[in-house]
Amino acid sequence: MAAPPPKQEGAGRSVVGWRRFLWVLLAALAVNLLIVSLFSDRDGWVDVSYSEFVQQLADDNIASVSIEEQTIKGSFRVAVDGLAGRSNPVRVFRTERPAFADDDLVGDLLKKGVLVDAKAPSKGTSWPLVILVNFGPALLIVFGYLWLMRRATGAIGGIASMGKSRALRGDPHAKRVTFADVAGIDEAKGELVEIVDFLRSPARYLAVGARAPRGVLLMGPPGTGKTLLARAVAGEADVPFFSVSAAEFIEMIVGVGASRVRDLFDQAKAVAPSIVFIDELDAIGRARGAGVSFGGVDEREQTLNQVLTEMDGFSANEGVIVLAATNRPDVLDPALLRPGRFDRRIVLNPPDLAGRSAIIAVHTKTVPLADDVHLDDIAASTPGMVGADLANLVNEAALMAARRQHARVTTADFTDALERIVLGAERKIMLTEDDRRRTAYHESGHALLGMLQEGADPVRKVSIIPRGRALGVTFQSPATDRYGLSEAYLRGRIIGALGGRAAEEIVFGDLTSGAEVDLEQVTSIARQMVGRWGMSHAIGPVSVLPEPEFDFGFMTGDGLAPSESTRQLVDSEIRAIVDDCHQRATEILRSHRDLLDRLADQLLAHETLDEADAYAVVGLPVPPTMGR
Ligand code: ADP
Ligand code: MG
Ligand code: ZN
Repeated sequence: MAAPPPKQEGAGRSVVGWRRFLWVLLAALAVNLLIVSLFSDRDGWVDVSYSEFVQQLADDNIASVSIEEQTIKGSFRVAVDGLAGRSNPVRVFRTERPAFADDDLVGDLLKKGVLVDAKAPSKGTSWPLVILVNFGPALLIVFGYLWLMRRATGAIGGIASMGKSRALRGDPHAKRVTFADVAGIDEAKGELVEIVDFLRSPARYLAVGARAPRGVLLMGPPGTGKTLLARAVAGEADVPFFSVSAAEFIEMIVGVGASRVRDLFDQAKAVAPSIVFIDELDAIGRARGAGVSFGGVDEREQTLNQVLTEMDGFSANEGVIVLAATNRPDVLDPALLRPGRFDRRIVLNPPDLAGRSAIIAVHTKTVPLADDVHLDDIAASTPGMVGADLANLVNEAALMAARRQHARVTTADFTDALERIVLGAERKIMLTEDDRRRTAYHESGHALLGMLQEGADPVRKVSIIPRGRALGVTFQSPATDRYGLSEAYLRGRIIGALGGRAAEEIVFGDLTSGAEVDLEQVTSIARQMVGRWGMSHAIGPVSVLPEPEFDFGFMTGDGLAPSESTRQLVDSEIRAIVDDCHQRATEILRSHRDLLDRLADQLLAHETLDEADAYAVVGLPVPPTMGR
């Protein structure tokens, strides 16, 4: 469907933009005045002494004067050299006549044939130059402002287009994204399929009195495919689709956000049925009055208010559906979630095993795979990864294969790519023999506790090759997708994380700084157990800590504002858990010292042990993993 040419926006409509424009104009003029008053006189008129003036008059060298009270301005007939300490010849001058002078000045002037006060003596400058000098700075500032405006709005047409929306209509030349490109998030997809169907054949829905949702909010962690899904809707819907990122409303220049919103909705209504997609809605949709930021708050609120007004303004059957996406539904202004606004909410969860497999299938459609590659195996080794991670994994594997001159991507390419992504790239540094031994025991401590504890995540890899910040790694990942975490499992995680340090203590009797990351992890788990998950008897089942960061699946409210004594109790409970776990870690390692030594020896010999090797060294069966 073709859109009518965009209406020329009446200049007076973007009120905010205009008010700001006037302010800039005023400021520019003020600056201008300052500059002119600072420079013009000093540059034009040269101050000379009254006696010098009388001397020049006697020499018949005064052409014209204008007299104002005691100040005399004038020009010489012939420019005078070396006057008032000037190096260049002086043509125009100014002087003060002493108040007590009783000479007959005007008489003398007229006698000498000087032109008196006919008009202000010309400084010999041309008109355009005068304008430039006097108004140049102001003009520069005004033009600079207009230029910025045009860049900000990306529009042509100067002031008239200030505040124009530049939402993207679906580009007919770009490759269309369809629902077939979206996998593994079937419930979310299903809901949007229904909305697309409504747009395609509204009559069927209206006949039975069904109402289209006005706003649909896609929410989920980053990388789960929100933007992708919205683009798929655009590709399928066959109606005009306006896409804009909320951050663009308020970037660059303040004061145009609200009018851009208005313009966007005007365009959409003109070609209804249509879809407006606002990505990263939280950029404008944060709760009003929350958070600190200077300047931007006002702007954001105005923009948000305008979105709300627009959404209230059209009736349900006008055929404009507003789609929005956010990673942070928790910070959204409640007004956005009220009935009649974003009343349909679709949650995109990280994909499960089957979902990951389907997503990998979508992304390997154009990638030649070796026969040994099984998508289910890759899916099984990537718990917790979202669509964007998997797309990246496929790409890294393809790069790896190309670098190794493989004609097809092999399983080894995939596992190495995964390792690189999860563990970081290997670092080429030489460790001293002492450091290697220490690292081998440290990692063996982690690995052994991971293998010996019932219910812990299986140990997939142990290595003493330095990567990123770490000198070695022990990589564990869950056997199945985990949805809830038990207290026993969390304690096991803490015990495992303390295992590296405990092993160093047992074997070497002293400590190094190498356990920093482990301790951060330990503290974070213990804190959440006590403060958010009610796993401490002394605190009880209340939430006393705010969530550290947005964490999908563990949404808590604001929590109890903890009193000083509660906070101390939290601290001591965290300490109690960590102390207890440290003791357990030390006990287990001490009683399996032989296994610890054996594992460390093998690591020193081979540098890296994979899952099968590691479990073989300690004489345990490899735990089963779902999907294999
Ligand atoms: P979000 O907007 O939720 O942060 P995106 O939609 O930008 O995530 O996803 C980034 C990329 O990850 C997509 O372009 C796509 O290549 C891939 N991706 C994410 N989710 C999926 C999915 N469900 N199916 C297929 N590809 C996906
Ligand atoms: Mg996105
Ligand atoms: Zn460690």
